[in-house]
Amino acid sequence: MDKIEHIGIAVKDLDVSNKLYEKLLGKPHYKMEEVLSEGVKTSFFEVGPNKIELLEATNADSPIAKFIEKKGEGVHHIAFAVENIEAEMARLKKEGFTLLSEEPRQGADNKLVAFIHPKTAGGVLVELCQENNNKP
Ligand code: ZN
Repeated sequence: MDKIEHIGIAVKDLDVSNKLYEKLLGKPHYKMEEVLSEGVKTSFFEVGPNKIELLEATNADSPIAKFIEKKGEGVHHIAFAVENIEAEMARLKKEGFTLLSEEPRQGADNKLVAFIHPKTAGGVLVELCQENNNKP
């Protein structure tokens, strides 16, 4: 794995949190994006080589809605950049980690993503993400 690509933070209200993080980091977010398949609206901030991803649920079945219901707002996942997501998924599976999907999925920010179940990663939801080069 390479660097920490981003830290995902679950929020109740993206507009409120955008303003908070703009004050905290001293700069505005650089993009917002909705990922329909995941039921989330996201907002990205650059922090040096890393990013902060704010996530708001767009429906009650969204994993973010469930997370907030259980734990409230806060850190939701840590994402690591990988060169080859399929190879990394195979390696982690061999090491005994449980992946939440068999195949990588299209995530926000033009990334292919996969998640490791927090039960097998010490309570932390881990995201792998690979820059998607197959953009038309
Ligand atoms: Zn993420």
